[in-house]
Amino acid sequence: MEGKVALVTGGSRGIGRAIALALADGGATVVINYNGSRDKAMDLKQEIESKGGRAEIYQCNVSDFAKCEELIQGIVKQFGSLDILVNNAGITKDGLLMKMTEEDFDQVIDVNLKGAFNTIRFASRQMLKQKSGRIINLSSVVGVAGNAGQANYASSKAGVIGLTKAAAKELASRGITVNAIAPGFIETDMTDALPEKVKEASVSQIPLARFGKAEEVAALAAFLASEAAGYITGQVIHVDGGMVM
Ligand code: NAP
Repeated sequence: MEGKVALVTGGSRGIGRAIALALADGGATVVINYNGSRDKAMDLKQEIESKGGRAEIYQCNVSDFAKCEELIQGIVKQFGSLDILVNNAGITKDGLLMKMTEEDFDQVIDVNLKGAFNTIRFASRQMLKQKSGRIINLSSVVGVAGNAGQANYASSKAGVIGLTKAAAKELASRGITVNAIAPGFIETDMTDALPEKVKEASVSQIPLARFGKAEEVAALAAFLASEAAGYITGQVIHVDGGMVM
């Protein structure tokens, strides 16, 4: 990935942070997008630079269409290209369907699904000009299998799969690959928030009998972003300890 420029949305924490590190280790210049966690994004930039890598931080709420245009234009202006886009930014607002507010439904769709559309909308124009590119979208096993209490999140992550496949078909002729990663339960702030009882019940559904690590998702993202993955597009690859098979 030497000489490549990568954008990781929601790169300040969790899986996005691990992906940013893995891409930087592979030689890419990494733009770490964050929404609220400026200090964490700055710490990560410094960590990458201390290892001899190149990184930049960029605040942007990915649900904002106009701000995403600015984000992509800013990257191309500063670095001259955009080769790898990782749509990782995501939120949950769990609740039973009958009690879920309209706001909680809309917010999750806006960040998780519309956010991915927004960045692809602008990044793909640049990638089309370059006649190459890698787009990697974070879906979830929940987008494939559904989950009680997560109607908003499951809808957004199923939407990400549809978006991935549509974009893959639209962009393939120009050498751009688009794939989705569907993690199961991964140890991050997002799953830390789950009650202990839910965590225990979740582990019992995982054949490998443990939560995954952010680095285990990042390893797949780095592979999909590499030259070696040039013949893989439109796929949804699970990193879930065998949870959904
Ligand atoms: P996390 O620890 O909660 O981190 C979420 C990241 O998304 C943060 O960097 C956050 O940035 C960013 N973010 C949230 N809203 C944003 C917005 N509006 N604009 C830009 N950035 C925003 O989550 P995670 O567990 O690492 O999850 C990462 C992705 O993997 C998500 O798409 C999630 O749905 C998916 N996933 C996670 C799991 C899991 O078990 N952890 C399983 C399946 C799928 P700030 O802190 O700067 O606001």
